[in-house]
Order: sequence, then structure tokens, then C-alpha cells
Amino acid sequence: MALVTGASRGIGAATAAALAGGGRRVAVGWHSDAEGAKATVAAIEGAGGEAVAVGLDVADAGSVDAGVDQVEEALGPVAVLVSNAGIAADGLVARMSDDRWRGVMATNLDGAFHVTRRVVPAMMRARWGRIVTVSSIGAYVGAAGQANYAASKAGLVGLTRALARELAPRSITANVVAPGAVATDMTAALDGIRRDQITSVVPLGRMGTPEEVAAVIAFLASDAAAYVTGAVVPVDGGLGMGS
Ligand code: NAD
Repeated sequence: MALVTGASRGIGAATAAALAGGGRRVAVGWHSDAEGAKATVAAIEGAGGEAVAVGLDVADAGSVDAGVDQVEEALGPVAVLVSNAGIAADGLVARMSDDRWRGVMATNLDGAFHVTRRVVPAMMRARWGRIVTVSSIGAYVGAAGQANYAASKAGLVGLTRALARELAPRSITANVVAPGAVATDMTAALDGIRRDQITSVVPLGRMGTPEEVAAVIAFLASDAAAYVTGAVVPVDGGLGMGS
């Protein structure tokens, strides 16, 4: 079965639906939006799939361990992990508080570590597994006002590549998906002018959809991607080309 963190909405919800559409049972991880997670589960069940919602704050190792215990009881061991939960708390470095820095690192980077540590032993026993972490184009092109976010997302690349090497002998792959600008609640927080500025420099001339990111994640989670590991796959309309 597959566990997707932060799956109450946006890219996570679309990923849960895509994996369920491919025949996997899915655990829909949520943190603050129980209703969103219920809606994700209902949509999957409505399409004939199987899913459960699980409350799980990735920043809190105890919550992760308890959440994964619950998921394993309901659906069995985690074979596919999508570490998608993420937040942004933008601000210029000169004025960034420790809390703003730590908060983003705790969710985006520590969070992926906590969940991976908890699910990897079962993958190792099964000698099969798929780990996909959701980073960002910001990890390698940077973004003014997003030092905390970019650092956390770059950290995910290092984490995932270390995992790829550690786990390759057990046929477990670990890959990164790096979205560009995707139309979700995260980008809805930007004002219209900023959104227009971003789309004007995207070669494909528009934002991506959560489903377009989910399709790439679902491929990396599939048997067809057995020979892909340690990769960083951009889903950015060409925005980060060459970087
Ligand atoms: P979103 O804000 O709609 O979704 C983020 C999800 O993470 C939500 O479900 C939220 O509840 C969950 N979450 C936040 N803190 C959590 C915690 N402590 N524990 C568990 N869950 C938590 O945003 P989205 O655009 O769907 O983002 C999904 C991922 O994609 C994030 O990691 C984000 O950084 C990344 N990303 C998004 C974009 C974009 O343009 N939208 C671009 C690049 C990368």
C-alpha cells in the first residue's frame, strides 16, 4: 500500500488519487484538514479504490510513528511512500526569525526523515519499495525570500540520494520530483501580479496542475520505473531547464 503525506488537498490529494487509480490501497495523511482528507478518501472510494485517512504531523516523530502503526494495521506495510507534506513561510534572511527557519525545516526536511525512517524497515524486509520526495525547483534555482524553503527542499535531494544508495541493494528506489509553479492553495497565496510574473517565464506559459505532478510521481512509484533511482525529475513546464 501507499502512504502519501499531506494528502488532504493539492498535489498530495491528486497523488493519492493517481496511486489508487493504479490499483494501490492508499493511506491519505493529513495534518490540519481532516475534512479535506475525508474528501480525498471519498473521491478514491467513489472511483472504486480503497483508502483510509490518517492524522499524522510529519514534524512530530511520535505522531508519525503512531500514524504509521495505524495505517499498517488497516492496510498492511507501506510499499510506496510519497513525502509530499510541505509548507512555506517566506521572508528575507536578514529578518528571518529562528521560528520561521525551524518551522519550515521541521515540516519539509525533518518530516520526510521521520516518515522514511519509520517505513523503510518494512520495505527492506519486503525487498521492494518506492520512495518519492516532493522537492521544488526552488531547491536548485533558489528564490529570494525563500531561504528556509529552498534549503529544506535542497536537503530533500541529499536525503533522497543517500536513501537511493543505501536501499538500492534491496530493490528500493528513491527519487525526487521537483515541481515548478503548480496551481494549488500554496500558490493561491501569491497575488495575481506575482503569478503573472511566474507564468510569463515558464516556457509552457502556464502553471502546472496537481494531476500533472501526480502522474510523474505515480510513474516513479510503479514497477515500470524499476531502473530509476536517485533522480531529480522536474515537472515545471521547462522553467528550470538547464539548471
Ligand atoms: P498545499 O499547501 O495545498 O498542500 C500541502 C499539504 O501539506 C497540505 O495537505 C498540508 O495539510 C500538509 N502539511 C503541512 N504541514 C504538515 C505537517 N506538519 N504534517 C503533515 N502534513 C502537513 O500545497 P501543494 O502545492 O499541494 O504542496 C505539496 C508539496 O509540493 C509541498 O511539499 C510543496 O512544497 C511542494 N511544491 C509545491 C509547488 C507549488 O507550486 N504548489 C511547487 C513546488 C513544490
